Amino acid sequence: MSDTTILLVEDEVQIRRLVRTALEDEGHHVLECGTLKEGMAHLHADTIQLLILDLGLPDGDGIVFIRELRTQFLLSVLVLSARSAEGEKIRALDAGANDYLTKPFSTGELLARVRAQLRHVPQEVATAETHFHFGDIEVDLAQRSVTRSGELLRLTPIEYRLLCAMLAAPGKVLTYRHLLRAVWGNAFVESNHYLRIYVSHLRQKLEDDPAQPRFFVTETGVGYRLDI
Ligand code: CA
Repeated sequence: MSDTTILLVEDEVQIRRLVRTALEDEGHHVLECGTLKEGMAHLHADTIQLLILDLGLPDGDGIVFIRELRTQFLLSVLVLSARSAEGEKIRALDAGANDYLTKPFSTGELLARVRAQLRHVPQEVATAETHFHFGDIEVDLAQRSVTRSGELLRLTPIEYRLLCAMLAAPGKVLTYRHLLRAVWGNAFVESNHYLRIYVSHLRQKLEDDPAQPRFFVTETGVGYRLDI
């Protein structure tokens, strides 16, 4: 059994069985459900590397769901849909899907696309130092804790990962591409707007004056630098 957990959200039982069997034969651990509500519950409860998502589900639109989960979770999303129109694919990819497979599909192609997505899962950011202190902020990577004046701060997984990526090279200019790859993976190296949003979250949580950032410095047109 691999240590990869894949969540399958699909309301057609036959497709679910087919996909589940193919993935389990490859050694993956598979969780499955038929609604977006159950899918969201799994995302909160389990560590999932890849979501395989049908767009037409009884309790809502998968594209809206992708947009929502992108703000909270780090994982690849492969859409499986009977909607073959180009516009639908573009909408899904723009919402944050990593890949799109139109039904009917062959299990061979599905598995190849799953392998491609799992190759994109970003590696843990490696740093030699485990303890950082700047301003009234303390970061302990070993404990995965961030405190401000001794008070524990709540960072989302994406915020924490971005902070770690910046702590890996304090004082150096980190390009948009470098940070996007480190935090979201190769499929997101063009998604500069994600970075703008999450750097602003970190400034809100870690800077005294988020409008005049002292630590999370913008290098216009290039990227960001952590000045600590
Ligand atoms: Ca469906």
